[in-house]
Amino acid sequence: MAVVQDQYGRQFKTLRVSLLNHCNLGCVYCVAGDEEVKAAGAAGKERLLTVPALLEIIGRLHGQLQLETIRLTGGEPLLYPGLVELIRGIRALGIPAIKLTTNGFLLDRLAAPMKEAGMTSVNVSLDAVDEDVFYHMSRRHSAERVIRGIDAAKDAGLDVKINTVVMRGINDGQILPLLDLAFSRHCRIRFLEVMAMGHLHDQAEKYLFTRAEILSVISTHHQCKPLDRMVSATATYWQTEEGHQFGVIANETEPFCRDCDRLRLDSSGQIYGCLSSNHPIPLGRDEDETIWTEKLQQALLQKQALRFTGSDLSMLHIGG
Ligand code: SAM
Repeated sequence: MAVVQDQYGRQFKTLRVSLLNHCNLGCVYCVAGDEEVKAAGAAGKERLLTVPALLEIIGRLHGQLQLETIRLTGGEPLLYPGLVELIRGIRALGIPAIKLTTNGFLLDRLAAPMKEAGMTSVNVSLDAVDEDVFYHMSRRHSAERVIRGIDAAKDAGLDVKINTVVMRGINDGQILPLLDLAFSRHCRIRFLEVMAMGHLHDQAEKYLFTRAEILSVISTHHQCKPLDRMVSATATYWQTEEGHQFGVIANETEPFCRDCDRLRLDSSGQIYGCLSSNHPIPLGRDEDETIWTEKLQQALLQKQALRFTGSDLSMLHIGG
């Protein structure tokens, strides 16, 4: 079987699958307004891939790439009908780690069945604990509901991480309260620099709160030391004197393209090799392995050598 690899030795080992591009939140870094969410949801509904179709594509990709991790995302993946059945099917394919990224709104209901079906961990997006700031970031209520979801996921035995996009002037005052919340629940939290995607493509800079600034805020309350970065990881971690860990995903100021191993599959069966690319490559289910290998190689060529260059495609479409 042909090895799909680029000149830097990068291979695809993690598959991120966007199950649908509909969402029950309207986060300001993701979409310009509710109209964008509604339009994406309505357009995507007719073309949603079924569970058997997704399992066939994922199974073939796993056969070619020997995937180590799969991450289900969207849109909001907990809105995908048949999610638990899909997880069970992925488990049967033998992919070692099955993870999911969610806004947490429906976790109290779905955490336990997902765990039982074979899910290993969830990343929960939470951008504020203060309800007004939460509303400002997500255009919905409430932070308390997401926190209930985090607790349900922990109770179900899932490994839980919290993801926070930090936006200058909007939620940069929430870094310390969110850190306290994460530490109190023994969850790792990762702070993300805002990325130049979708409607923010040309204006992300004005909201960018850098890794250096995030660390500076945290250092006013905690002494911390850096930990070694794991190969292909998006986050770099620090540990406080009390032993709590937190991470920063510094896509803009400390890019991590050089050993990126991520391949993306969108909700209509198209692949992307990089978030910087808005050129989807459609995978035909009737095409043979040689054609898929060529397409995977093409996707690998989309990867940047050094840094993320931005894209006008929102993560709502390509999957976060
Ligand atoms: N609905 C799920 C959620 O909220 O986690 C999954 C999809 S959402 C697109 C996944 C993640 O994408 C968000 O948590 C956020 O971290 C990230 N994201 C979306 N747009 C972003 C941007 N412009 N900059 C940084 N992160 C972004």
